[in-house]
Parts: sequence; structure tokens; C-alpha cells
Amino acid sequence: MTTVGFIGLGNMGGPMARNLINAGHSLKVYDLDEDKVHMLVQAGATRAQSVAEAAAGVEMVVTMVPEGRHVRDAFLGEGGIIAAADPGTLVIDSSTIDVATAQAVHEAAAEAGFEMVDAPVSGGTIGAENATLTFMCGGKAGAVAKARPLLESMGKNIVHAGSAGLGQAAKICNNMLAGISAVAVAEAFVLGEHLGLDAQTLYDIVSTSSGQCFFLTSNCPVPGPVPTASANRDFEPGFMAKLMAKDLRLAQSASIATGVATPLGAQASALFNLFETAGFGDKDTAAIIKLIRGEMGK
Ligand code: NAD
Repeated sequence: MTTVGFIGLGNMGGPMARNLINAGHSLKVYDLDEDKVHMLVQAGATRAQSVAEAAAGVEMVVTMVPEGRHVRDAFLGEGGIIAAADPGTLVIDSSTIDVATAQAVHEAAAEAGFEMVDAPVSGGTIGAENATLTFMCGGKAGAVAKARPLLESMGKNIVHAGSAGLGQAAKICNNMLAGISAVAVAEAFVLGEHLGLDAQTLYDIVSTSSGQCFFLTSNCPVPGPVPTASANRDFEPGFMAKLMAKDLRLAQSASIATGVATPLGAQASALFNLFETAGFGDKDTAAIIKLIRGEMGK
């Protein structure tokens, strides 16, 4: 049993924290949203009133917040994790953020004597609920080895991607691919509709053909073929389109920094930015089919 401070209890952090409780760990939880804290307290966690309170007196701290600026807020500064945690605490950030922020936080943690792992995840809210996430870990091998048993209570694939920040690098590459394929699947279904294909028939064919991918078989953008897909519940997230827009921007920043041409990533980024600007950012990523269909007013 490990004592854990868990910060950020949203669509992902909520079920991840619940899985830690179910696995027998002792949790102290904090979120800016009191309702989310309340739900975890009902599941057996202890309430913390601040980031500092969640980070103090525990063996490990896990953060699952939206963006790099939230990670900086949570880790750095007076009321932050680095100031509040006990010596020897292992700190793990599972948010998806830019590599530079991840490396800056790693550096600040190391200077204060803490071991850190950047451990972003893939697998969506279903993976978070079923404890089947993939964790992509960046940091020293010893720190990743210490984190592994805890991460195994929330996921089934724990991969050491390399040094500090390389977990985030792997995540950005993965999500650029996922964003491109979300658009591609939407295009295929809208084209199929216009050609007179039944959606279920198209699904049955493509899911056993070379077009098969996650955004087809786990989050198909039309209602019916995949009962758990967000299309069956008016694209309630899931993985919000604004978070996909953020990840695609991170990929574009990385491609500019490295000089690597990612033309399809750039197209997907532009489409998700447009979708978010049009007011659909809180919908699930698969809702991008509305943009392809020209249903933006509906
Ligand atoms: P979310 O918006 O549902 O949850 C984030 C939570 O963090 C919110 O409850 C918010 O109140 C809280 N928060 C923000 N700043 C805080 C702070 N300083 N202190 C305490 N709480 C704070 O987002 P999510 O879908 O859970 O995603 C979290 C991260 O995981 C993001 O970086 C996202 O890109 C990544 N991710 C999401 C999914 C997915 O399917 N939703 C999949 C993989 C990765």
C-alpha cells in the first residue's frame, strides 16, 4: 500500500484515482472543483484543501491536469508540490504537456532532491476506467522502476520512453497520429454516406481491413457500430476536442522546433483549432465529423 497525493480529478484523473483506491492505496485528493473532490471522498479518499496539503505527508504525488501552465502552477512556487512534499517523495505528472515544461519541472524537482517521472497516458477515459492505460515514462530508470507498481494499478502497459521529457515526446507523436486518424475516419464515413453506404456495413468492412484504427473501433464517429463510442451520446467526452487541439498544437511546436515536416499534422491541427474556435471544444474528439459534414450550426 502506498500513500498518494492525487491532484486533478477530471475525466481521466477521477477514474485513475478510483482505481488506486480499489487497488488498496491510500489517497489524499485535490481538485479546483470541489464536486470532483467530493466524489472521490465518497469512494474512500481523504480530502485535501490545497495542492500543498495533497502533496505533504505522502510517498508519491500524481498530477493529472490539463496543460503545461497548470503543471507549473501545481509544482512550482510557494504553495506548489516541490515546496510542500516531504523529502524522498516520488513525483509523477501524467498530464499531456510540452516537452520544455516537463523538462523544466524535472529540473526544479531534481534541484530540490526529488525523483520525478513524466508519465502521460493513452487509452482515453475507457482506459482510465478499466485500468488499461498505456503510460509513456520519461526520467531516470530508478524513478520509473519505483513508479511502476503504482502505475500498474492504473494501466497495463508501462513503457520507459527515455530521459526526462521523453514520455511527453512519445505522447505528442502518438496524439498527432490519433488526431490525423480522427479526421480521416470522419472523412471516410461522410464520403461513405454520400456514396450510399450503410454505416454499419462500412464499419464491418473497414474494421477488418487496412483502414482499421482506434478512432474507428473504439470511438467510431457515427452512432451504432461501437456502443461505447461518444457518437451514441451526442459526443459527450471522452477526450475533449479542445484537448486534442492542444496536443496537435504541441506537435506543431515540436515540428517547428525540430524542422521536421508534418503536413498532415498541420492540417489536423488547423481543423481542430477551427472546431474549437467555432464553440465545439467541449465535445468529444470524434465530433470532428460535424465539421466534415458541414453541421457546424447544429
Ligand atoms: P479535465 O479537464 O476533465 O480534468 C482536469 C482537472 O484538473 C479538472 O478537474 C481541473 O479542475 C483540474 N485542475 C486544473 N488545474 C488544477 C490545479 N492547479 N489544482 C488542482 N486541480 C486542477 O481533463 P482530462 O480529460 O482529465 O485530461 C487531463 C490531462 O490528461 C490533459 O493533459 C489531457 O490532454 C490528458 N489526457 C486526456 C485523455 C482523455 O481521454 N480525456 C486521454 C489521454 C490524456
